[in-house]
Amino acid sequence: MIRDVVVIGGGPAGLAAAIEAKKNGAEDVLIIERDKRLGGILQQCIHNGFGLHIFKEQLTGPEYANRFIDEVKNYKIDYMLDTMVIKIDKDRNIIALTPNDGIINIKSKAIVLTMGCRERTRGALNIPGNRPSGIFTAGAAQRFINMEGYMVGKKVVVLGSGDIGLIMARRMTLEGAEVKMVLELMPYSTGLKRNIAQCLHDFDIPLYFNHTVVRIHGRKRLEGVTIAEVDSERKPIKETERFVECDTLLLSVGLIPENELTREANIPIDNITSGPIVDESMQTMVEGIFACGNVVHVHDLVDYVTFESRIAGRSAAKFVKGQLSFNDKSFKTKGTYGIRYVVPHRIDPLNVDDSVNFFMRVDNVYKNVYLTVKNNGQIITKVRKAIVTPGEMESVVVKRSILEKLNKGDIEFTLEEIKND
Ligand SMILES: Cc1cc2nc3c(=O)[nH]c(=O)nc-3n(C[C@H](O)[C@H](O)[C@H](O)COP(=O)(O)OP(=O)(O)OC[C@H]3O[C@@H](n4cnc5c(N)ncnc54)[C@H](O)[C@@H]3O)c2cc1C
Repeated sequence: MIRDVVVIGGGPAGLAAAIEAKKNGAEDVLIIERDKRLGGILQQCIHNGFGLHIFKEQLTGPEYANRFIDEVKNYKIDYMLDTMVIKIDKDRNIIALTPNDGIINIKSKAIVLTMGCRERTRGALNIPGNRPSGIFTAGAAQRFINMEGYMVGKKVVVLGSGDIGLIMARRMTLEGAEVKMVLELMPYSTGLKRNIAQCLHDFDIPLYFNHTVVRIHGRKRLEGVTIAEVDSERKPIKETERFVECDTLLLSVGLIPENELTREANIPIDNITSGPIVDESMQTMVEGIFACGNVVHVHDLVDYVTFESRIAGRSAAKFVKGQLSFNDKSFKTKGTYGIRYVVPHRIDPLNVDDSVNFFMRVDNVYKNVYLTVKNNGQIITKVRKAIVTPGEMESVVVKRSILEKLNKGDIEFTLEEIKND
């Protein structure tokens, strides 16, 4: 089977990329999804807050996904469900496992990787203690409650103040559980400010910064956790240890882009984002293989996933039609003071339509700063920010007309303190 564009993953990134590829002239587009339905993680996110940028409306996750699923159907884009891609190579050969046909081989002119993220589990944290039931990632609990119809516990401690943990603190409360506290190792939250207000403050759920779980108690079912404050090196302070009775521990301790396929295909990965290195067209360092959404870097708003995925889909169609150049003379992007990473990693101004939206995350909380973009020491643009935090992705738009004028050096992103005048 030979296809124009194969999209691996049927979440919001995959859906938007497939639609855009089709709209831009790719004839034969296929989405491969390992789950029983399209929609990705959005299927289980039944709270609202999706789509404010794209649709100017407050939608739930399934509503947001369904707008795209309807379009996939209208455009008669093929999709395979219950089908897991197990291998790709740099020549765009795909091997997938299907329930009816067993192992299948597909050759694609272009591939878009949209496999999303998975959550870090207890194993990644090494919390000492037994292995009783009652310890879930926040996302697993979300799936049980919102999709399978099971309540996972009655007395809950949430570890980690990422968005999924905050949303689940509220969800568990609404379902009748007592959420005793949310603990955060860092001195700041990694979740959106709006989620801290709407999910914790509105329900009087306490949030303790600089705190962690140091021991799990219980043999069959979780009976409690020992918590402790941490010092400036994030080591627990013994004297602050205390026992908290609970039957459920929800972990919201980070997402990891799901890039096993990418690594095996020898596609270069950024060590900080754990996603593939991409250019302005969302093309990876392997020609004809594109990537977008959470598999590239963790997004806090699905709307940004859609923006980025439309670029990937459009570029994949252009590649199939021989209209996308691929060269080594691109400018590299680089985060310096305060900026952990920047996506895209490389820019070829000739492939930019009108402008590039650079996405980045900062490494700490900073107040009253300029987010400055420079090349060869010259300022290209700067944006004033009252506050930036690691939990909220920042973005800066730079016009093609400016990028075209650059002739050497990296495009640097940095934070600069605003001196009081
Ligand atoms: C548990 C969880 C809860 C979240 N909750 C929220 C929230 O409440 N609000 C919010 O704004 N954001 C939330 N997010 C962030 C959310 O992931 C993004 O906004 C968005 O869903 C990312 O879209 P995506 O398409 O990149 O990834 P996903 O939605 O994760 O979709 C990836 C898809 O790829 C499929 N896939 C992966 N590997 C393969 C393979 N080898 N073969 C075939 N298919 C494959 C997966 O089954 C999945 O359907 C959550 C993320 C997680 C992990």
